[in-house]
Parts: sequence; structure tokens; C-alpha cells
Amino acid sequence: MRMSGRVDILVVGGGIHGVAVAQAAAAAGYSVLLLEQFEQLAQGTSSRSSKLVHGGLRYLESGQFHLVRECLKERALLLKNAPELVRLTPFFIPVYHDTSRSPGLLRVGLGLYRLLAGLRAETRFRSLPMSAWEGLDGLATRELRAVFQYYDAQTDDALLTRAVMRSAARLGAACLTGARVMAIQRDKAGCLIDYERGGRVERQRADVVVNAAGPWANALLETAAPSARRLPVDLVQGAHIALAAPAPQGVYYVEAPQDRRAVFIMPWQGMTLVGTTETPRSALPAELADWEPLPAEIDYLRSVYRRYFPERAGAAVHHAFAGLRVLPKGAGSAFARPRETVLLWDSRMRILTVYGGKLTAYRATAEKVIRSLRAHLPRRRGIADTAQVRLEP
Ligand SMILES: Cc1cc2nc3c(=O)[nH]c(=O)nc-3n(C[C@H](O)[C@H](O)[C@H](O)COP(=O)(O)OP(=O)(O)OC[C@H]3O[C@@H](n4cnc5c(N)ncnc54)[C@H](O)[C@@H]3O)c2cc1C
Repeated sequence: MRMSGRVDILVVGGGIHGVAVAQAAAAAGYSVLLLEQFEQLAQGTSSRSSKLVHGGLRYLESGQFHLVRECLKERALLLKNAPELVRLTPFFIPVYHDTSRSPGLLRVGLGLYRLLAGLRAETRFRSLPMSAWEGLDGLATRELRAVFQYYDAQTDDALLTRAVMRSAARLGAACLTGARVMAIQRDKAGCLIDYERGGRVERQRADVVVNAAGPWANALLETAAPSARRLPVDLVQGAHIALAAPAPQGVYYVEAPQDRRAVFIMPWQGMTLVGTTETPRSALPAELADWEPLPAEIDYLRSVYRRYFPERAGAAVHHAFAGLRVLPKGAGSAFARPRETVLLWDSRMRILTVYGGKLTAYRATAEKVIRSLRAHLPRRRGIADTAQVRLEP
């Protein structure tokens, strides 16, 4: 085994949270190394999301105002700092006679969303006149009562992740891909991390470890000796299908007729992307290739699309993908479960684990991680403010 050097912070996982922590750590003046098991960054959840940079209108109903406000603030920062990667997109909410939320309720919700976003120009919304409905990509107009239009943003989650890592590297962070962490031990001075890369096992010393392994977070903690604290979590699969139908002009935010869940119908790479589902998974699939939508999920999404765009319902499935949400265990359906990130600090092992969270809030999450680690690290002088750092595609 070869012994490498020592860093203040070792980050495990090259998804959006790992690269964001690397960026925030380097900006705060810490030495940081990120290890990612696959050859490329963002092979896990961070390339399998709905690719929306949004406050999450529906979280208002469950009173998650703090999350919505934080995400809207981060959305505004991303629109400023990453204009080539994050684009404002019109969103449409059609309301039919059988839609569970009335036009009045939606108007209140959109007004509140606007208030939480700070009444910026990009937060305006309106009810479209009937004369505009025919121009909505073939949206079914039978029994349609109203169509609201507002703005949120879209991105390419994998490109965004790689751009954040490039900016972290410019600030001094190091990153190794194809480096799978196999064991974390506690020693007198901090942590010893063993990882396998190119058939060799290397050992790295770090003051603290940030576990940003997404759905693998608890599997990583199982490799910690003597043992590490972990939270019981549910893994909930969310699937998308890309249909070979022309890309719609914006994102349609609709209700699945089967169970009233929110589903997005979006433009993506010149096609139509439909997602997501919520399917509980009892275990992490062994291989990335096994992260596949189930036939029932594809049927569900196709039937939602058929309900709202009957004229285009015959479009073939071009490709499909699935990702895993990490939700701390709790009562009730996964759909209603809070989406706040949970940070768990194990002071004995010196490991901080990031559970769950939103792509949109990645920077805010990373800043919280660094704030909570400060007391356990040597004093360093910051070199940049992540809220000001520009991200290049
Ligand atoms: C279906 C779905 C849709 C979503 N849509 C949105 C959305 O539209 N907008 C939004 O804001 N949020 C969305 N989210 C949430 C968001 O996508 C996730 O919170 C975010 O991508 C999680 O990133 P992560 O870095 O924590 O995990 P991941 O992206 O999964 O990264 C974890 C990384 O750790 C690596 N790793 C694991 N174990 C090891 C090891 N032992 N050694 C080295 N590396 C290791 C993995 O290879 C992986 O690259 C969605 C989530 C899902 C599941």
C-alpha cells in the first residue's frame, strides 16, 4: 500500500454535493481532495435528476418555506453565475375540472412563491388567455379551466457538476476519479482513508472526511472502523422517459391522473422528457447498469403523457433513466416526505455525512458543511466567496 499525503478535508463522492463541498472547502482556504469511484463525475444521482433548478412550488403545500426560499435564492445566484448552464424556462400549470388544486389555490401558491423569491422580474406569473391555449404544444383543452404560466430554470445536472469541480480545481481542490474508497479508520491525528485506484490500494490521511456518497452513503459508513453513526434511510427511485416527440416550448407541470402526484413534461435535448415516479427500492442496485426504470414506471409516465398530449401519445421512448432519492426514514408517503438535506456529524470518526437534498441548493448545502466543520479544522484564510464564483460550461 502506498501512503499519499495529508489534507484538511477528504470528500468521498463526485456528485453535485461532493464537488460543491470541494469548491466551498477550497474557497475557505482548506486543502481538499475528492475521490470518485467511477471514471467520470456525476454518474450517480447527479445525472439522473429532473434537471430543474427550482424552488419547488409543491413544497409550499407541506410548509417547507425555508427550503423553497433557499432554493429560490440559489436559483437567482445560478442564473447570475452560470448563465450558460442554467436557463430560465417558462413553466405551465394546466388546471382541468378534475385537477385537485383550484385556480384560486394556485394563484395564492404562485403569489407566495413570488414573495419568497423576492419579487424579482423572473418571478412574475400570469393566467394565459384562452386564445393562447391552442399554441401550447397540443395540450389537451377539453375541460381545461385555466393555464398558469410562471418561470423556473433548467440545467444539465452532469455538466453543472463538472463545472463546479472545475471551479473547485481552479481554487486549489484536487480530484481523483476511478478511486473507490474501501475503508476509513480513525487514528490519533484524524482519519486514514484507503482507496483503490488502477488496481493499487493507496492510503490518504485527512483531518475530516465528508461522506457525499449519495445513495451509497450508508454503504460507505459500513467500511468505517471501529464504526460510524448512520441514519436509517429509504431509497426511492425516480424514473424519467425521453420521448421522441418534439421538445415542448416549456415545462408542463401536471398531475398524474392515477394518484395526483406531480409530473413534469419537459424539453430536453430536442425531445420530451417525462418524470418522475416514486418507487421504493429495498436495496442499492449492485451495478450502475441496474439503475433502470421498471416497466410499470414507463407505463405510468406514458399514460400521464397520453392524458395531457393525446395527439403525440404515439411517440416512441428514445431512452429512459432512473435515479435514487435518499430520504431519512419517516412516516407517510415518500412524495410527502421533507426534502431538506440532513447533515450528520460523527465526532468520534470525524466523518460528516450528507443525506438527501436538492441539486438546486448544492452551494448552500456545501457552505453549511464547511461552517459545521470549521470548529474541527485548523484555521485557514478564505480565498473566494462561492456566491460570487462564475461557472463556465
Ligand atoms: C429522480 C430524481 C429527480 C431529482 N430532480 C431534482 C431536480 O429537478 N432538482 C433538484 O434540485 N434536485 C433534484 N433531485 C435531487 C438531486 O438530484 C440530488 O439531491 C443530488 O443529485 C444528489 O447528489 P449527491 O452528490 O448527493 O449524490 P450522487 O450524485 O449520487 O453522488 C454520489 C457519488 O458518490 C460516489 N461514491 C459512492 N461511494 C463511493 C466510494 N466508496 N468511493 C468513491 N466514490 C463513491 C458515487 O459514484 C457518486 O458519483 C432529484 C433526485 C432524484 C432521485
